[in-house]
Amino acid sequence: MFNLILFGPPGSGKGTQSENIIANYGLQHLSTGNLLRTEIANQTTLGLQAKQLMDQGQLVPDEVVIGMVGNFMDAHREAKGFLFDGFPRTTAQCVALDALLKQKSNEINVVLALEVSEEELVKRLLGRGATSGRSDDINESIIRARIKEYHDKTTAVATYYQQFDKVVHIKGEGTVESIYADLKAEIDTRI
Ligand code: ADP
Repeated sequence: MFNLILFGPPGSGKGTQSENIIANYGLQHLSTGNLLRTEIANQTTLGLQAKQLMDQGQLVPDEVVIGMVGNFMDAHREAKGFLFDGFPRTTAQCVALDALLKQKSNEINVVLALEVSEEELVKRLLGRGATSGRSDDINESIIRARIKEYHDKTTAVATYYQQFDKVVHIKGEGTVESIYADLKAEIDTRI
């Protein structure tokens, strides 16, 4: 298996670049944001609880997200690898993911970290909110709250994987094609 984490703040282009990567390498896309939005659309209990937090720019509790990821991985046992997008977002999620992969004698091969300035992130997310209907992308103060959550809790994810020398930083500004070329070069040396 080849397991990759695409890491970066909200609006850094993880969704867009994930599509390119899964199309090219046949990895299974695992986006916790998408899984949570499906739960919301289906009006499940989990979805209703998650929506309140998501709409305030806060993280959903670790145990909820970890359970959801475990179920998804079980449902895709045939996958030749996973592309994790929006997960892990906390150190506890990193530890849980390592344990889930270890059960399958697997590990994270690389963490590709997209770097984008805060002003560019806010601009992109407000632009996306104008067309996507995503309720967490409409209001600038919620967007800034999500970026703050990222700095408060999620940057610890990079620190966690740095201790295993797995993090590669990629500039997330420029054209979609040029950023993808940089990501692809890093994947190709490892896959
Ligand atoms: P973004 O575009 O902000 O990166 P996502 O689509 O990945 O957002 O996630 C949207 C929201 O879903 C997050 O702001 C958070 O509330 C919740 N969420 C997604 N993934 C996780 C996770 N791994 N842990 C906790 N909350 C999560």
